[in-house]
Amino acid sequence: MGPPGCGKGTQAARIATRYGIPHISTGDILRAAVREGSALGRQVEATLASGGLVSDDLITELVRDRLARPDIEAGFVLDGFPRTVAQAQALDAIPAAAWLVVVVIDVADSEIVRRLATRRVCASCRLTQSVSSEIESDRESCPYCGGRLERRKDDDPETVRRRLETYAAFAAPVIAHYRDRMALASVEGVGQPEAVTAALCAHIDQFSSAR
Ligand code: AMP
Repeated sequence: MGPPGCGKGTQAARIATRYGIPHISTGDILRAAVREGSALGRQVEATLASGGLVSDDLITELVRDRLARPDIEAGFVLDGFPRTVAQAQALDAIPAAAWLVVVVIDVADSEIVRRLATRRVCASCRLTQSVSSEIESDRESCPYCGGRLERRKDDDPETVRRRLETYAAFAAPVIAHYRDRMALASVEGVGQPEAVTAALCAHIDQFSSAR
């Protein structure tokens, strides 16, 4: 868990690679549906563009279906779910998620606004990266494949503000939901990504061995 731009996606991908388990990002699944123009994509497009949350029923169904697949047997990383207490309660009822390590990545709002202003996604390889200057970002291309870098629709400043408000309103009760029931830890999300990954993995390993 953590606010938009805290590095959840980057860290979730790194943890998934490290433990050889799938990375399940509800935001990525929804954005892919919007790109494909599927029925789901058409249903959620306006909500994603506004920075609000899609309905608990829809997202819970999506996660329940995903966790029914056999590749999650050795574990999985959930990124962006649950975001509400209703979603956390629905997750409690899914047997595959009976035991969780919940980690909150903390980053100050001012740092989030700064990070998201320079965040871009490559239109070809879909890697997320930062441009060095917001003003001259049009001149930069993907350092990995040379593709065009574009801003995520929901990273424009007005939508970022809305997403931060949404996070502030919904996160505290979800964290409270887990406080006494699951292995919950908080990690500082500033500094080198490798150091954040190491702190996250230390918590995961500690809680896994104590299980
Ligand atoms: P993310 O990439 O996790 O920031 O998600 C991008 C957008 O997808 C969010 O701003 C929401 O509109 C939607 N979304 C992703 N996960 C959820 C969720 N668990 N509940 C509701 N909406 C979600």
